[in-house]
Amino acid sequence: MNMFCFQCEETAKGTGCTKGGVCGKTPQTAKLQDDIIAALIIMAKTIKNPTPVMDELMMDSLFMTLTNVNFDNDVLTAKLNEIMSIVKEAGNTEELNSAQLWEGDEDIRSLRTTLLLGVKGMAAYAHHAHALGYEDKEVTQWLYTAMAAIGTDHSTEEWLGLLMDCGKVNYKCMALLDKANTTTYGTPIPTEVPFMIEKGPFIVVTGHDLKDLAELLKQSEGKGVNIYTHSDMLPCHGYPELKKYPHFKGNYGTAWCNQRKEFDGIPAPILYTTNCIQRPKDSYLDRIYTTSIVGFPNTKHIKEDATGNKDFTAIINHAIKLGGYEKPQMRTGMNNGATVTTGFGHGTILSVADQVVDAVKAKAISHFFLVGGCDGGKASRDYYTEFVKETPEDSLILTLACGKFRFNDLDLGKIGNFPRIMDMGQCNDAYGAIQVALALADAFDCGVNDLPLTLVLSWYEQKAICIVLTLLSLGVKNIYVGPSIPGFFSPNVLNILVENFGLTPISTPKEDLEKILA
Ligand code: SF4
Repeated sequence: MNMFCFQCEETAKGTGCTKGGVCGKTPQTAKLQDDIIAALIIMAKTIKNPTPVMDELMMDSLFMTLTNVNFDNDVLTAKLNEIMSIVKEAGNTEELNSAQLWEGDEDIRSLRTTLLLGVKGMAAYAHHAHALGYEDKEVTQWLYTAMAAIGTDHSTEEWLGLLMDCGKVNYKCMALLDKANTTTYGTPIPTEVPFMIEKGPFIVVTGHDLKDLAELLKQSEGKGVNIYTHSDMLPCHGYPELKKYPHFKGNYGTAWCNQRKEFDGIPAPILYTTNCIQRPKDSYLDRIYTTSIVGFPNTKHIKEDATGNKDFTAIINHAIKLGGYEKPQMRTGMNNGATVTTGFGHGTILSVADQVVDAVKAKAISHFFLVGGCDGGKASRDYYTEFVKETPEDSLILTLACGKFRFNDLDLGKIGNFPRIMDMGQCNDAYGAIQVALALADAFDCGVNDLPLTLVLSWYEQKAICIVLTLLSLGVKNIYVGPSIPGFFSPNVLNILVENFGLTPISTPKEDLEKILA
């Protein structure tokens, strides 16, 4: 059985996985995920007044089709049946034709795919906000509008308009999630996080979901089990309502793409709250717990009960049984650092905006770089480490998402009171970076593109696509992106993005820095 998928940076030969996914996705799983997308398109076209149950189904089903989220064919089949029964109940007997997603003129397919992947990324953020009880009707409704549009023919200009609309709505979606996170768990504050694993039982939490972590912290309190973040959960240490727990100890490991090495042989269970899950080695399969939209065959899944609560007793008891390490273990960052600092959300940076502005006026800060995005396994991602190392000593590096593990433990010193590397949070905290840029532009009475600010983005999966669409829809230029250009950008579409929107494929750190600082 053949398949087709080119939604992530690891796609085979840069053009598409056709025999099986580089990520481990089988043709059967790929077909089920495509069928879910085709079914959601029919649902979006059919249902005029969706119920809250349908809204949840829309965002969760989209999220399940993101890279490295759900490999469980039984779960995907159940989701597909759920969508199709809604469609049939509404009187639509249309047959699924998921092959259509990848057919047609190369440029139109490219534009259609870009919209689909942007919507998938946005659905992930909507899902997280929804989990905390936050919803924006305009955002939810856009998921239907976009899915219906994906199943309809459009001119190039119309597709470009839809992409900009997606970016604008995603900006609102990221604002919603920012509000959900900060209202529920407080404004992040700068926090030093150790890479030291203390002796005794522990649990590693990976993914992105703050609510799952909060619940686990609450339920494990006083049980002698320590909790450590992994990958894009690291920024959780900055939130006051999470950091208040004394057994929330530190961070274990680095970015998601190193999990097969990092989870092998540790005396602790691992909780996956969202992407990214890689095919587990047999050596740790029995220590994996998934929840929410994450799925992998033969792992233990923690479900919500009828009242929306989750019981984490099994994973807590598993940690106690395994017992953890007998002595503390130092697991450094990628550059041998023993600690990292996180918690520089827009609330913190903007509270000292006058100091930042004064430092720029006094020429103590010459340039701002936002070096952010997802990490991935390719060796060419060393670019980001080298880039950060090469930046001038009077420049500040803002960062977010898990690509930062390539440099977040470097000691690059300080400028005045500011550490040169400031971790703004998870990928969705791109919203906070935009707030900082807008505030600086306001303070200097100029446009964002006139600021000494360059965005250097690493992309891996679909959440990066909705963020780039947001930046483009806001008219932000000065964006360097890599390490490779998405396989779903046709040459003509790439040309439009480069020529008309100011997107620049990365080159080498030295060449790019020379160009930026010229
Ligand atoms: Fe290939 Fe990426 Fe699709 Fe997996 S998600 S099948 S690696 S393109």
